[in-house]
Order: sequence, then C-alpha cells, then structure tokens
Amino acid sequence: MLSNIRIILVQTFHPGNIGQAARAMKTMGLSDLVLVRPRCYPDAEASRLAAGAEDVLDGARVVDELSDALGDCVQVVGASARLRSLPLPHYDEPDAMAEAVIANAQQAPVALVFGRERSGLTNDEIRLCSHQVSIPANPDYGILNLSQAVQVLAYEVHRAWRRQPTSDYRYQRPAHAEPPTREQLGYFQTHLSRVMATSGFLTQPHANTEQLLQALFARAQPSRRELSLLRGLLSAVEQHFPENVINDKERSRNRD
Ligand code: SAH
Repeated sequence: MLSNIRIILVQTFHPGNIGQAARAMKTMGLSDLVLVRPRCYPDAEASRLAAGAEDVLDGARVVDELSDALGDCVQVVGASARLRSLPLPHYDEPDAMAEAVIANAQQAPVALVFGRERSGLTNDEIRLCSHQVSIPANPDYGILNLSQAVQVLAYEVHRAWRRQPTSDYRYQRPAHAEPPTREQLGYFQTHLSRVMATSGFLTQPHANTEQLLQALFARAQPSRRELSLLRGLLSAVEQHFPENVINDKERSRNRD
C-alpha cells in the first residue's frame, strides 16, 4: 500500500536534494519516485546523499511533464509553503492529508508533488493537483528545504499508515464511491469544456468561467460513478445542440 504513494519532484535544481529526498522516502517505506525534468540526473552528488537509498534513485522514473506522472492517480497533493489563490481543497495540517492519502492509496496510486527550490510549483502545475498541503511553520521563515519537506510529509504518511486499524477493521470504501483517476477526471473536463463551447454557453472567452467550473468539480471530488453520470448528462445535452438536431432531422428525412 505504501508502494501506491508516489513522490514527484518537479525540475529539481540541486541533485543533492534528489538524493536526500530518496533517503527521506526510504526511511518512511516509500519507493516510487518520479522526477520531472531534473536539471542534473543521474548525478554523483545525488547518489552520495542518498546514502543507502540508491535503490530508490535507481528506480526513479524521469518524465518531461508533470501530467505524464499523474494519469493513473486518484489523488494528487501539491505541497506548497504559500497559499495561492487557486480554489483547490487545502490541507492545513499534514496529518489530515496523510489520513486521506492512506485511505485513497488502498485502491490506486496517489501522488505528493514538490516544487522547484527557487520558485515552487507554477499555477498550471497546481491546477493539475486535486489538493494542496502546507506544512505549518514559522510565519516569518516557513519555507523548508525541499528534501526536508519530503521528509515531513513522508513521515506523516508513514504515521497514518501505522495507525490504521488491523486489516479486519480496515475501512473499505464501497466500490461505487471509488475516486476517479486524474485521467478519467481529465476526460470529463475535456467533455465539459466541449459542451460549454459548442452549446453557446461560453460567450466571453476571457471570463474564467471554464476554470471556475473546473474548480467546482475539483472541490466536489465526484466518485467514478458520479463522474460517469455527469458524462451521461453531458452526452444527453449534446444531442440537443443545433447541429445534432439538424443531423437527427436529416436522418429522419433520409429515412422517410
Ligand atoms: N521558494 C519556493 C519554495 C521552494 S521550497 C516558493 O516560494 O514556493 C521547495 C518545495 O518544498 C516547495 O515547492 C514545496 O513543494 C516544498 N515546501 C517547502 N516548504 C514547505 C511548506 N512549509 N509546506 C509545504 N511544502 C513546502
């Protein structure tokens, strides 16, 4: 189950941080590491600072885009020291995040995403997340070193995992309440955007409407079943668009 918890480091500058993050992960029983466009990797300094966790480094996957690492995940938590204005569900306390992550990781992969040393995560990257988490810290000096942030959150995840009731009593999520993967959510969002555009609902292209509605669905956290209901609704609505109505008329005319 800990194997379902993925640590993603985005565009890490210092290879030593990658090594120390690998070490932090291994101490907490985590092994799935993904690196998005690291500046320098593989690297001797990374291996040196991994100090016995080279197996985690060797197993790391390198990808070009954050989205390449998330498709199969049912929850994606972006770690950020600063609150952005994006309306994503936010964990103010890492232990609350860890509890949810452990519940979700029973079924499918879950990712914790960490940003660049200098500039953190971009808004576009945070938009790919389902949640955000901050580590509460000194308000005047609250930004941790990247690998230390990995250590704190990995520790919380390990702690939540240890505290689970024994398997007999373990919370079993009913199948109909399973969360969708990011890929399934992406299909829904594309479908929603298409319906908004072709129905004539979007009249002011710069009004942010699409983003506001996407954020609403991100907050609602629909299950797979609810998402497929919504997609059914969108498909039914699409049937009534002018071109479909015309097509239907033409079809029946052709039949006559
Ligand atoms: N200067 C950057 C911070 C980079 S620290 C900024 O202002 O955003 C590198 C990464 O460590 C961050 O992107 C974040 O993922 C993680 N991190 C550091 N401090 C954190 C904190 N207090 N809470 C959550 N994540 C933190």
